[in-house]
Amino acid sequence: MSGGVRPKPQRLRPAVPGVLAFGANLGEREATLRAALAALDSVPGIRIDAISPFYETPALKPAGVDHEAPAYLNAVARIHTTLDPLSLLDAVNAVEDEFGRVREERWGDRTIDIDIVDYDGRTSSDDRLTLPHPRAAERGFVMVPWLAVDPDAVLTGHGRVADLAARVTDTVTLYSGGAA
Ligand code: ADP
Ligand code: MG
Repeated sequence: MSGGVRPKPQRLRPAVPGVLAFGANLGEREATLRAALAALDSVPGIRIDAISPFYETPALKPAGVDHEAPAYLNAVARIHTTLDPLSLLDAVNAVEDEFGRVREERWGDRTIDIDIVDYDGRTSSDDRLTLPHPRAAERGFVMVPWLAVDPDAVLTGHGRVADLAARVTDTVTLYSGGAA
């Protein structure tokens, strides 16, 4: 390169891979998921590489599966990001807020929930951010879509996603309304 403005290397972070999980069980679920995916892809420092098919799952509450509650639509996205983990969480929370998530009860119905499942294979137990996501391994609605976008994926500390997906007990159904 010659001439022009020199980059400042100390400010450049390499892009690292990550995995985000999305869920929506209120309102126009499919439209909300698509809008949230598009909103994240437009954040500087986040690029969505692949989006899983959409899956439908019964709502999971602390007491167990709640068949009275509206079912979730779930998807997983593979990303690359130059954001540090907490900045990525800020971006994710901003998109949740933008699409009107209501944080009333724990695991309550919500228009959109976005979790950071994996950030470059790292582990963290920060107050705001646990990595990998502590409940991802046992959630079929995370393991099944993740497997669909990365057959060789490994969840740090838990093993191959293919093995984890084979072991989950929740019912995950391919959603015919939406291939991404
Ligand atoms: P869950 O994601 O287990 O269904 P919630 O979405 O209600 O539960 O939890 C949201 C809180 O979890 C946020 O305040 C956030 O700070 C925290 N959190 C911890 N680790 C993560 C993670 N890996 N991804 C997203 N949120 C996380
Ligand atoms: Mg969450």
